[in-house]
Amino acid sequence: MARLLLIEDDPAIRATVLRALRERGHAVAAAPAAMEGLQTALAERPDLIVLDLGLPDLDGRELLRMLRAVSAVPVIVATARDEESSMVQLLDAGADDYVVKPYTAAQLDARIRAVLRRSPGAAESPVLTVGGLTIDPLARTVTLDEVVVELTPREFDLLHHLAVRAGQVVTKRELLTEVWQVPYGSTDKTVDVHLSWLRRKLGETAQEPRYLHTVRGVGVKLSEPPA
Ligand code: CA
Repeated sequence: MARLLLIEDDPAIRATVLRALRERGHAVAAAPAAMEGLQTALAERPDLIVLDLGLPDLDGRELLRMLRAVSAVPVIVATARDEESSMVQLLDAGADDYVVKPYTAAQLDARIRAVLRRSPGAAESPVLTVGGLTIDPLARTVTLDEVVVELTPREFDLLHHLAVRAGQVVTKRELLTEVWQVPYGSTDKTVDVHLSWLRRKLGETAQEPRYLHTVRGVGVKLSEPPA
């Protein structure tokens, strides 16, 4: 099962595709316009987006460019325009694949499965361990010394991002753009606030860190505590 986002303004097509994809076992959210689609994509972080090119508020190509600026989420473009040259442009612009309208649910589902199979992270995220911390990206669970740690989705993403890079200093700019997918603002305290929550849940403080180490003026590092 994949978590999908369908961005499609035609209500009849939207309803049909939603139903068909859900019947095939996917969890599907839908948006009827480009800006709403972008917001949903950032909030829900779907595994894959199906994007109609003809949208009322913004051309689908523009939306594709905006998505690509902040996210590597796989995108399948749905289009009525079937000339080869525009398809090549779309693939160059960052689309992973396309379907030509009218398409069947079976065709779309086959494309979705093929794209997800070759997309890193969708199917084969390994369980990470750093000292006594175990982070399972598929189950989205964390344990510390074999005790479950309850994290919010954002705290989980933050910890996972750091765990993938354990031992390396990660800048707050990178965390904002990669975990929050927002542009960096110099006064933004979002990262600090979430780090302090995460610290508390891991049973440590900034003054006496075990796993989460702030490197002043640079960023933060997750590392195994000394034995
Ligand atoms: Ca349309």
